[in-house]
Amino acid sequence: MNSTFATFNPATGEHLADVALTSANDLDNAVDAATGALERGSGWRTMTPAARARVLWRIAELIETHADELAELETRDQGQPLGIARHVSVAATAEHFRYFAGWVTKITGETNPVSIPGVLNYTTREPVGVCGLITPWNFPLMIAAWKLAPALACGNTCVIKAAEQTPLTTMRLVGLMAEAGVPNGVVTVVSGGPEVGKAMVSHPGIAKISFTGSTDVGREIVRASADHFKRVSLELGGKTPVIVFDDTPVTDAVAGIVQGAFLNSGQVCAAYSRIYVQRRIVDEFADGLAAAVSAMRLGDGMSPETDLGPLVSADHLARVEGYVRSGLEDGATLVAGGQRPDHLSDGHFLTPAVFTDVTDTMRIAREEVFGPVVAVLPFDDADEVTARANDSRYGLSASVWTRDVGRAHRTTAALDAGTVWINMPNPPDAAAPWGGFKSSGWGREMGAAAIDLYTETKSVMLSTR
Ligand code: NAD
Repeated sequence: MNSTFATFNPATGEHLADVALTSANDLDNAVDAATGALERGSGWRTMTPAARARVLWRIAELIETHADELAELETRDQGQPLGIARHVSVAATAEHFRYFAGWVTKITGETNPVSIPGVLNYTTREPVGVCGLITPWNFPLMIAAWKLAPALACGNTCVIKAAEQTPLTTMRLVGLMAEAGVPNGVVTVVSGGPEVGKAMVSHPGIAKISFTGSTDVGREIVRASADHFKRVSLELGGKTPVIVFDDTPVTDAVAGIVQGAFLNSGQVCAAYSRIYVQRRIVDEFADGLAAAVSAMRLGDGMSPETDLGPLVSADHLARVEGYVRSGLEDGATLVAGGQRPDHLSDGHFLTPAVFTDVTDTMRIAREEVFGPVVAVLPFDDADEVTARANDSRYGLSASVWTRDVGRAHRTTAALDAGTVWINMPNPPDAAAPWGGFKSSGWGREMGAAAIDLYTETKSVMLSTR
């Protein structure tokens, strides 16, 4: 008998399910099944590309057929408002499978003009092998798709682990994948916390780890995977700077930045978090932002009235409140939010917080909060603000707001960031590469770049004589 762990609804405290904790023996079985499924029996890697593409397309269709069920499960397990679960998480999950279904028949090598007389050189892209996929709790379903879809498109097999706080939609997705025709052993879900993740990282049968989560755990994974020279790709933390020049209409900037900062209660790796505003408009912007966040309605994500759901757990709420306290202790001014609302005491709620009078050295300006807390900082000119924006260990993303197209490009070029959004909130897209500079990660998911993450290149030299 396996031991189990419980998962709860963060809005209500309701116990949702007990989930079997994966043992070392279970993990060995999952890796054996994934190894077998690569070559023997179904031969996922040797299945024709057209057949594999059809399976991925069917997964997308089944996700859409079950969209309401998946969205409700995500909202209950993770807390995000149902509209976000349905129109962001589930929609993007289906779209990811569809996008990578298209890639399966387009993964090509190249011929190279080698200078050895009478020799033809060509390359092939081969699957890496068994991939261990480890995901965080903020967008469990969508981030599972960011990994599963390209890994399977390239002919790999997978063992996937969701975060211990939010295991349910990944389990349901893998069930739907079997219904869609993914052969036995090609994808196995394992469940548990850091110990199961560590066992995956050190497992000799897993050729590659794809991890999304915190920078500190990413560093541990790099160290622990060194013995086997495991392929590792990492999508880690961020502290997204937003630069608002004073030619931007303040109402536009406020509307876009509210979305970019508070989606999923700020539990977004690319959440807009350090908002640098040119001095002439900084007070007007801060007032507008404080008014906009004060109007947001907190509640259970299942209610259509809800703009902001809870934080994922009591521990995480305590951590985010610690940042609110640190902002106050460091001398920043809290102009909105930062409180536990009395009427929602069963869940892990915090009213969205805006700080002004923030300086660059304060913790709220430097560390990833991963919650509904933003810092507004004034700036004077472009060179100064890009230097301040780049003074961070992170480089996941950034945002620039200006009506001057030349300035938008110059500022973007000067920023250390894997993605820059200009005059808009921060959605990812299956076709656009996603990943970070510096301590925000290694590699790029999505787009053509994801094919590099999940294939090895083989170079073939053939004598034509
Ligand atoms: P986390 O690093 O604590 O956990 C992530 C996953 O790793 C979980 O499944 C966890 O069980 C597992 N894990 C924990 N310790 C491990 C270890 N030593 N070895 C292997 N696995 C281990 O992160 P979290 O708190 O779940 O998520 C929040 C973090 O994720 C934030 O830092 C956020 O920025 C980051 N994130 C990044 C992206 C991105 O695309 N860059 C997207 C979402 C979240």
